[in-house]
Amino acid sequence: MPCSNVKLDERFAHLAMNHPCLGRAPNKGRLHLPISPECNIKCRFCTRSFNDVELRPGVAKQILSVGDACETVERALELCPEISVIGVAGPGDSLATDHAIHCFDIMHERFPGLIGCMSTNGLMLPDHVGDIVKAGIRSVTVTVNAINPSILSQIIERVVLNGETLTGIKAAQTLLLRQLWGIKSLAARDVLVKINTVLIPEINGEHVGEIAEATAALGASIINIIPLIPQGDFSHMEPPDCSQINEAREAAERYLPVFRHCQHCRADACGLLGETGLESRLYQNLSCENTFSHG
Ligand code: SF4
Ligand code: SF4
Repeated sequence: MPCSNVKLDERFAHLAMNHPCLGRAPNKGRLHLPISPECNIKCRFCTRSFNDVELRPGVAKQILSVGDACETVERALELCPEISVIGVAGPGDSLATDHAIHCFDIMHERFPGLIGCMSTNGLMLPDHVGDIVKAGIRSVTVTVNAINPSILSQIIERVVLNGETLTGIKAAQTLLLRQLWGIKSLAARDVLVKINTVLIPEINGEHVGEIAEATAALGASIINIIPLIPQGDFSHMEPPDCSQINEAREAAERYLPVFRHCQHCRADACGLLGETGLESRLYQNLSCENTFSHG
């Protein structure tokens, strides 16, 4: 039971019928290709890791080379013919390196029937909206944890843009401006934009409605509220309880449909949402790159 129906803009009806994360295609699967090794910002809750056991974002068995991606997709389709989506969701940021766009260009050519889906922090969207459309990516998830720079500055430690490291309010303002520009530009080009918001009760617990309102006005189609996993600098914080999650969802739902069945997928997830992942069988024989940088 991975999905409930959410009301999306009708121009995305066909996408919703074939994308397991959009509510109308519970029998479809997704494959995440863990090809993005680096990140260009530092969220204080982020702890990326390489292992076989953790079921959460930011975790993969290893980094996959772009050269191995086609074989991986073919093997994944043998294991799970229901896969309809190829996604890139880490372990780093999809646009911090050119691996993801290059990979989607190849996938679009080799597997035109599969939907391209990407997650990003949005910092590099202003430089890549044209590349995203050209690579056939139909759905982009942008993580927006605040639309107020002073709130956002409590969540991110730094932003690295064009070789310059920004911190504090300047970092937050820069990230925010580029995220919002990217959301508007993608939506105007008929790419479905999903917002991910990590709910951190002590910081943005009362702010989620404003995030939904601002991003909806720019053309976002759906929002997913992800409870904080207390890790990294936020390991001392309490995750939201059920009533806090429900309050945040109700605040967001005034402006955007809310995706309620997020599975907190690994960066190398494979198979149907809500079922045991096939990633351990998928990656056992592939040669993977073992390099990794926090960027
Ligand atoms: Fe971690 Fe993603 Fe934040 Fe980068 S954008 S620091 S990978 S949570
Ligand atoms: Fe796309 Fe995220 Fe769903 Fe993966 S989990 S297929 S990146 S929306």
